[in-house]
Amino acid sequence: MSVSWNLWHGCRKISPGCKYCYVYRQDERHGKVSCVVTKTANFNLPVKRKRDKSYRIPSGEMVYTCFTSDFFVEGADEWRREAWNMIKERSDLKFFIITKRVDRFYVSLPDDWGEGYENVAIACTVENQPMADYRLPIYLKLPIRHELIVCAPLLEAIDLRKYLDPGKIEEVSVGGESGNDARICDYNWILDIRQQCVEADVPFWFHQTGARLLKDGKLFRIMRKFQHSQARKAGINFKVVRVL
Ligand code: SF4
Repeated sequence: MSVSWNLWHGCRKISPGCKYCYVYRQDERHGKVSCVVTKTANFNLPVKRKRDKSYRIPSGEMVYTCFTSDFFVEGADEWRREAWNMIKERSDLKFFIITKRVDRFYVSLPDDWGEGYENVAIACTVENQPMADYRLPIYLKLPIRHELIVCAPLLEAIDLRKYLDPGKIEEVSVGGESGNDARICDYNWILDIRQQCVEADVPFWFHQTGARLLKDGKLFRIMRKFQHSQARKAGINFKVVRVL
Protein backbone atom coordinates (compact mmCIF):
# COMPACT_ATOMS: atom_id res chain seq x y z
CA MET A 1 0.00 0.00 0.00
CA SER A 2 1.10 3.58 -0.60
CA VAL A 3 -0.18 7.03 0.26
CA SER A 4 0.26 10.36 -1.54
CA TRP A 5 1.19 13.31 0.62
CA ASN A 6 0.96 16.60 -1.23
CA LEU A 7 2.36 19.06 1.29
CA TRP A 8 2.35 22.15 -0.89
CA HIS A 9 1.20 23.12 -4.33
CA GLY A 10 3.01 25.22 -6.94
CA CYS A 11 6.55 25.35 -8.22
CA ARG A 12 8.99 27.33 -10.34
CA LYS A 13 10.48 25.98 -13.57
CA ILE A 14 14.23 25.56 -13.22
CA SER A 15 15.52 23.33 -16.01
CA PRO A 16 14.64 21.86 -19.44
CA GLY A 17 12.74 18.97 -17.88
CA CYS A 18 10.26 21.49 -16.45
CA LYS A 19 9.27 22.89 -19.87
CA TYR A 20 5.94 21.04 -20.09
CA CYS A 21 5.46 20.47 -16.34
CA TYR A 22 2.05 18.90 -15.76
CA VAL A 23 1.46 21.08 -12.70
CA TYR A 24 1.50 24.14 -14.94
CA ARG A 25 -0.67 22.39 -17.52
CA GLN A 26 -3.29 21.47 -14.93
CA ASP A 27 -3.29 24.88 -13.25
CA GLU A 28 -3.67 26.69 -16.58
CA ARG A 29 -6.84 24.73 -17.19
CA HIS A 30 -8.23 25.97 -13.87
CA GLY A 31 -6.96 29.55 -14.26
CA LYS A 32 -4.48 29.13 -11.39
CA VAL A 33 -0.91 30.49 -11.14
CA SER A 34 1.54 27.61 -10.62
CA CYS A 35 4.58 29.60 -9.54
CA VAL A 36 2.91 30.66 -6.26
CA VAL A 37 3.58 28.01 -3.63
CA THR A 38 0.79 27.37 -1.13
CA LYS A 39 0.36 24.89 1.71
CA THR A 40 -2.31 22.30 1.03
CA ALA A 41 -5.14 21.24 3.33
CA ASN A 42 -3.32 17.92 3.69
CA PHE A 43 -0.08 19.44 4.94
CA ASN A 44 -0.22 17.57 8.26
CA LEU A 45 -1.55 14.29 6.81
CA PRO A 46 1.09 12.00 8.40
CA VAL A 47 0.14 13.11 11.90
CA LYS A 48 -3.63 13.29 11.42
CA ARG A 49 -5.50 11.01 13.80
CA LYS A 50 -8.77 9.15 13.80
CA ARG A 51 -11.42 9.44 16.53
CA ASP A 52 -9.78 6.64 18.47
CA LYS A 53 -6.55 8.72 18.45
CA SER A 54 -4.63 6.29 16.24
CA TYR A 55 -2.90 7.73 13.19
CA ARG A 56 -4.92 7.86 9.99
CA ILE A 57 -2.01 6.44 8.01
CA PRO A 58 -1.23 3.00 9.41
CA SER A 59 2.29 1.97 10.26
CA GLY A 60 4.49 0.62 7.49
CA GLU A 61 2.99 2.58 4.57
CA MET A 62 5.08 4.10 1.80
CA VAL A 63 4.32 7.82 1.53
CA TYR A 64 5.02 9.51 -1.81
CA THR A 65 5.49 13.26 -1.41
CA CYS A 66 4.98 16.44 -3.42
CA PHE A 67 3.31 15.49 -6.69
CA THR A 68 2.38 19.08 -7.60
CA SER A 69 5.57 20.75 -6.39
CA ASP A 70 9.15 20.04 -5.34
CA PHE A 71 9.95 19.22 -1.70
CA PHE A 72 12.90 21.64 -1.77
CA VAL A 73 11.15 24.46 -3.67
CA GLU A 74 12.13 27.97 -2.55
CA GLY A 75 8.57 29.02 -1.67
CA ALA A 76 8.26 26.27 0.98
CA ASP A 77 11.39 26.96 3.01
CA GLU A 78 9.44 28.20 6.03
CA TRP A 79 7.28 25.05 6.17
CA ARG A 80 9.91 22.39 5.44
CA ARG A 81 11.20 22.14 9.00
CA GLU A 82 7.68 21.29 10.19
CA ALA A 83 7.47 18.71 7.41
CA TRP A 84 10.72 17.11 8.59
CA ASN A 85 9.32 17.04 12.14
CA MET A 86 6.31 15.06 10.92
CA ILE A 87 8.57 12.70 8.97
CA LYS A 88 10.59 12.13 12.12
CA GLU A 89 7.50 11.62 14.28
CA ARG A 90 6.31 8.98 11.81
CA SER A 91 9.51 6.94 11.73
CA ASP A 92 7.17 3.94 11.31
CA LEU A 93 6.37 5.16 7.75
CA LYS A 94 8.62 5.32 4.69
CA PHE A 95 8.87 8.61 2.82
CA PHE A 96 9.84 9.00 -0.81
CA ILE A 97 10.96 12.39 -2.14
CA ILE A 98 11.86 13.13 -5.78
CA THR A 99 13.58 16.46 -6.44
CA LYS A 100 15.27 18.59 -9.06
CA ARG A 101 16.68 20.75 -6.27
CA VAL A 102 19.37 18.71 -4.56
CA ASP A 103 21.38 21.94 -4.44
CA ARG A 104 18.86 23.21 -1.84
CA PHE A 105 19.03 20.09 0.33
CA TYR A 106 20.50 21.86 3.38
CA VAL A 107 17.88 24.62 3.50
CA SER A 108 15.70 23.97 6.59
CA LEU A 109 17.31 20.58 7.25
CA PRO A 110 16.72 19.39 10.85
CA ASP A 111 19.66 19.61 13.28
CA ASP A 112 19.47 15.90 14.08
CA TRP A 113 19.52 14.74 10.44
CA GLY A 114 23.06 13.29 10.82
CA GLU A 115 23.69 10.81 8.00
CA GLY A 116 20.00 10.87 7.13
CA TYR A 117 16.75 9.50 8.50
CA GLU A 118 16.48 5.78 7.84
CA ASN A 119 12.85 6.11 6.70
CA VAL A 120 13.55 8.66 3.93
CA ALA A 121 14.58 8.04 0.31
CA ILE A 122 15.48 11.07 -1.79
CA ALA A 123 15.72 10.64 -5.55
CA CYS A 124 17.57 13.09 -7.78
CA THR A 125 15.98 13.83 -11.16
CA VAL A 126 18.17 14.39 -14.22
CA GLU A 127 16.75 14.85 -17.70
CA ASN A 128 19.87 15.49 -19.81
CA GLN A 129 23.66 15.41 -19.57
CA PRO A 130 24.16 18.99 -18.29
CA MET A 131 21.68 18.44 -15.45
CA ALA A 132 23.30 15.09 -14.61
CA ASP A 133 26.72 16.74 -14.51
CA TYR A 134 25.44 19.58 -12.34
CA ARG A 135 23.19 17.74 -9.89
CA LEU A 136 24.79 14.33 -9.40
CA PRO A 137 28.18 15.47 -8.06
CA ILE A 138 26.27 17.51 -5.45
CA TYR A 139 23.85 14.66 -4.76
CA LEU A 140 26.51 12.01 -4.22
CA LYS A 141 28.08 14.05 -1.43
CA LEU A 142 24.84 14.51 0.52
CA PRO A 143 24.09 12.54 3.69
CA ILE A 144 21.07 10.53 2.52
CA ARG A 145 20.35 6.93 3.56
CA HIS A 146 18.56 5.91 0.37
CA GLU A 147 19.58 7.44 -2.95
CA LEU A 148 18.14 6.91 -6.43
CA ILE A 149 18.53 8.59 -9.79
CA VAL A 150 15.43 9.34 -11.85
CA CYS A 151 16.12 10.10 -15.53
CA ALA A 152 12.80 11.71 -16.49
CA PRO A 153 11.60 13.13 -18.69
CA LEU A 154 14.52 11.63 -20.58
CA LEU A 155 15.45 14.21 -23.24
CA GLU A 156 18.71 12.81 -24.61
CA ALA A 157 21.29 10.09 -24.12
CA ILE A 158 22.98 10.45 -20.73
CA ASP A 159 26.31 9.03 -19.65
CA LEU A 160 25.90 8.20 -15.95
CA ARG A 161 28.94 5.92 -15.63
CA LYS A 162 30.95 8.05 -13.23
CA TYR A 163 27.94 8.43 -10.91
CA LEU A 164 26.86 4.79 -10.71
CA ASP A 165 28.32 3.75 -7.39
CA PRO A 166 26.50 0.50 -6.49
CA GLY A 167 27.29 1.08 -2.81
CA LYS A 168 25.39 4.36 -2.90
CA ILE A 169 22.85 4.46 -5.74
CA GLU A 170 20.09 1.96 -5.00
CA GLU A 171 18.27 2.32 -8.33
CA VAL A 172 18.14 4.23 -11.60
CA SER A 173 14.71 4.68 -13.12
CA VAL A 174 13.97 6.05 -16.56
CA GLY A 175 10.85 7.48 -18.18
CA GLY A 176 9.73 9.55 -21.14
CA GLU A 177 7.63 12.69 -21.11
CA SER A 178 3.83 12.75 -20.87
CA GLY A 179 1.33 15.27 -22.24
CA ASN A 180 0.28 16.65 -25.63
CA ASP A 181 3.55 18.50 -26.18
CA ALA A 182 5.76 15.64 -25.02
CA ARG A 183 9.22 15.54 -26.54
CA ILE A 184 10.36 12.35 -28.20
CA CYS A 185 12.13 9.75 -26.09
CA ASP A 186 14.43 7.44 -28.03
CA TYR A 187 14.32 3.83 -26.81
CA ASN A 188 18.05 3.55 -27.58
CA TRP A 189 18.77 6.16 -24.86
CA ILE A 190 16.84 4.00 -22.41
CA LEU A 191 18.66 0.81 -23.42
CA ASP A 192 21.98 2.62 -23.16
CA ILE A 193 21.28 3.71 -19.56
CA ARG A 194 20.15 0.17 -18.79
CA GLN A 195 23.44 -1.18 -20.13
CA GLN A 196 25.38 1.27 -17.96
CA CYS A 197 23.43 0.04 -14.93
CA VAL A 198 24.04 -3.60 -15.78
CA GLU A 199 27.78 -2.94 -16.10
CA ALA A 200 27.82 -1.08 -12.77
CA ASP A 201 25.52 -3.63 -11.11
CA VAL A 202 22.97 -0.94 -10.19
CA PRO A 203 19.25 -1.83 -10.37
CA PHE A 204 17.45 -0.31 -13.35
CA TRP A 205 13.72 0.36 -13.77
CA PHE A 206 11.99 1.50 -16.96
CA HIS A 207 8.98 3.08 -15.25
CA GLN A 208 7.10 4.66 -18.15
CA THR A 209 7.38 5.15 -21.90
CA GLY A 210 6.17 8.74 -22.13
CA ALA A 211 3.73 9.87 -24.83
CA ARG A 212 6.09 9.74 -27.82
CA LEU A 213 8.53 6.86 -27.99
CA LEU A 214 10.91 6.34 -30.89
CA LYS A 215 11.70 2.66 -31.31
CA ASP A 216 13.19 0.79 -34.28
CA GLY A 217 12.87 3.95 -36.41
CA LYS A 218 9.16 4.23 -35.70
CA LEU A 219 7.46 6.90 -33.57
CA PHE A 220 4.85 5.44 -31.20
CA ARG A 221 2.21 7.69 -29.62
CA ILE A 222 1.21 6.12 -26.35
CA MET A 223 -1.82 7.15 -24.32
CA ARG A 224 -1.26 8.09 -20.68
CA LYS A 225 -3.10 5.06 -19.34
CA PHE A 226 -0.75 2.68 -21.20
CA GLN A 227 2.58 4.38 -20.52
CA HIS A 228 3.39 2.38 -17.39
CA SER A 229 2.11 -0.96 -18.66
CA GLN A 230 3.94 -0.63 -21.98
CA ALA A 231 7.19 0.06 -20.14
CA ARG A 232 6.59 -3.04 -18.00
CA LYS A 233 5.95 -5.10 -21.13
CA ALA A 234 9.37 -4.15 -22.49
CA GLY A 235 10.77 -6.49 -19.83
CA ILE A 236 14.07 -4.67 -19.45
CA ASN A 237 14.13 -4.01 -15.69
CA PHE A 238 17.28 -5.15 -13.94
CA LYS A 239 17.52 -6.26 -10.28
CA VAL A 240 14.78 -3.85 -9.11
CA VAL A 241 13.88 -4.21 -5.46
CA ARG A 242 11.94 -1.99 -3.08
CA VAL A 243 14.25 0.69 -1.84
CA LEU A 244 13.02 1.24 1.71
S1 SF4 B 1 10.58 21.00 -10.52
FE1 SF4 B 1 8.95 19.53 -11.04
S2 SF4 B 1 7.07 20.44 -10.26
FE2 SF4 B 1 8.62 22.06 -10.33
S3 SF4 B 1 8.30 23.07 -12.30
FE3 SF4 B 1 9.89 21.52 -12.58
S4 SF4 B 1 8.77 19.69 -13.28
FE4 SF4 B 1 7.26 21.09 -12.38
